[in-house]
Amino acid sequence: MILTTHMLVGATVASKISNPFLALPLALLSHYLCDSLPHNDYSIVNISERRWNKTYRHFIEIFLDICFGAVLISLFSGNSPIIFAGAFFAIVPDGITLLSKILPQNKLAALHQKLHNFMNNIGDLDGNKKIPVIWGISSQILIVLISIFLLR
Ligand SMILES: [Zn+2]
Repeated sequence: MILTTHMLVGATVASKISNPFLALPLALLSHYLCDSLPHNDYSIVNISERRWNKTYRHFIEIFLDICFGAVLISLFSGNSPIIFAGAFFAIVPDGITLLSKILPQNKLAALHQKLHNFMNNIGDLDGNKKIPVIWGISSQILIVLISIFLLR
């Protein structure tokens, strides 16, 4: 699932739960729940295969994805720090995944990647990401719209 979607869900969780010690772990857990739903991702194959000299385009896409999420949150929320912290915690798992690519010998990051892959494959029953694009995109648009509605 793209980072914008994760950020909006994490922001929404943080906006609804006043205790940050509960809100932020739940924002983090929302990542795995969202990844279990049918979705498509943009390709980060060069990062996945550690072809670092070809990854600039992926990092630009990731940066723009994060910026888009932050802009939507700032437009549709009360802009309290806890909301942005929720958005941040909701994308930490993808950050750990990036870490596992940079440091493949890190056992904790590799273990996390197994959990992350498992959650991603729940919504992708044959594990080959052949979900029709219309469902993969519309599921995320729906989640973003619901999050924006709940953020207000
Ligand atoms: Zn993920």
